[in-house]
Amino acid sequence: MFEYAPAPESRDVVDIRPSYGLFVNGEWVDSPGGEREKTVNPASEEVLAEFTMATDADVDRAVTAARAAYDTVWSRMPGRERAKYLFRIARIIQERARELAVLESLDNGKPIRESRDVDLPLVAAHFFYHAGWADKLEYAGFGPAPRPLGVAAQVIPWNFPLLMLAWKIAPALACGNTVVLKPAETTPLTALAFAEICRQADLPPGVVNIVTGAGATGRALVEHPGVRKVAFTGSTEVGRQIARSVAGTRKKLTLELGGKAANIVYEDAALDQAVEGIVNGIFFNQGHVCCAGSRLLVQESIEGELLDALKRRLATLRLGDPLDKNTDIGAINSAAQLAKIRELSEAGEQEGAERWSPSCPIPDKGYWFPPTLFTGVAQSHRIAREEIFGPVLSVLTFRTPAEAVEKANNTPFGLSAGVWTEKGSRILWTADRLRAGVVWANTFNRFDPTSPFGGYRESGYGREGGRHGLEAYLDV
Ligand code: NAD
Repeated sequence: MFEYAPAPESRDVVDIRPSYGLFVNGEWVDSPGGEREKTVNPASEEVLAEFTMATDADVDRAVTAARAAYDTVWSRMPGRERAKYLFRIARIIQERARELAVLESLDNGKPIRESRDVDLPLVAAHFFYHAGWADKLEYAGFGPAPRPLGVAAQVIPWNFPLLMLAWKIAPALACGNTVVLKPAETTPLTALAFAEICRQADLPPGVVNIVTGAGATGRALVEHPGVRKVAFTGSTEVGRQIARSVAGTRKKLTLELGGKAANIVYEDAALDQAVEGIVNGIFFNQGHVCCAGSRLLVQESIEGELLDALKRRLATLRLGDPLDKNTDIGAINSAAQLAKIRELSEAGEQEGAERWSPSCPIPDKGYWFPPTLFTGVAQSHRIAREEIFGPVLSVLTFRTPAEAVEKANNTPFGLSAGVWTEKGSRILWTADRLRAGVVWANTFNRFDPTSPFGGYRESGYGREGGRHGLEAYLDV
């Protein structure tokens, strides 16, 4: 039997201030008119800290600082010098990885094993990878003298707060742009810790600015006339609003939006592996993953066998304290997100799908949702069409490969998909027909800074990561 390790990760490794200002021009500043908001630990509802809701005037101050740093320092600095700062940031992140992982788990609710073993290593890897590009941009195939754009406005969501920051800031800086970044209002703490890391790395003032706040701050930032590039990760609805507001300006725009990925399991798949991939696909990070494998498409002939194995595996998942190293399912990030997951799950039952969860004790305090399976799902059901962004898997069946592809593509989204089969030719046949930015074969939720990531259709446009990701931050 599995032995439980005794102690949860210690909260004492993090130093959370009671209250945070904004990080502008290398300094912590107060907002003259900005209100204060609280960020809470979703596993306990305990208040972690207060932060500032930046006003239009604060955003203007940050963009002005970023522009000055762009004009006087950063865009003129040779790439090899910029690389040194990025390498330094990467190393500091590695050195402080444990502290940052605990902070992320406290503010977001994700299991410490994920923040420690997935998020933080990838965050460091993104800075190392882009540090390597900073002095090699003329060899990237974009022509002889690719140029940075100017000030980048970057707005990110709450599901991978520090990783989304790394995806945005590392390429922007490598290419010679300066940045104003707004983290999500429920998870500001690791972005604020990153501000301190910029100071620790002696990054010139104004190159990175962090403004906290909600949608109004994000809107003021993307609409600021001093911005040349907008990079947004979040919901399709807000992405649409941003696309409208940026239309007709000179701003370059990339959008990483929602998804409703299909995980297709053919009858010849290695079932044990497929079960692990399905579990990772939808229950990793409580399903708060844009590319989550939220629709399982299983070949009819193996449906019973696969569902039995899947249910047995789900019964072993442990839900609870995100700081406990044995936890598989952490807390839902906010009360609002929990309400959305509940609403869609109730719609699933009302529309006639069958709901199943393992018996799973739920803590008294905090926001929690058990791992949940829906069988008997029809393509017309809301749980088969809408992004739930929670630990809820909708199971559909198919008979032929053509039917699998037709069902997988029957969504307005196009971010990711998975294929499970032992036949190489079937992988290629299927992947070729799936309209998704990434297709994983016999694995799921694999990320690497060298691979471009991004969607089609309502999942957005533009790519982040890899050589293609640089293009979004350059005039070529
Ligand atoms: P959201 O769109 O509500 O918020 C995202 C960010 O945008 C937050 O920082 C928010 O404050 C800000 N914002 C809200 N309104 C704004 C406006 N009018 N103008 C500018 N900024 C505004 O999304 P969310 O609920 O935080 O995140 C979940 C969504 O993000 C899901 O749909 C998920 O699929 C998507 N997502 C996509 C990816 C990807 O790479 N494609 C990655 C992570 C999350």
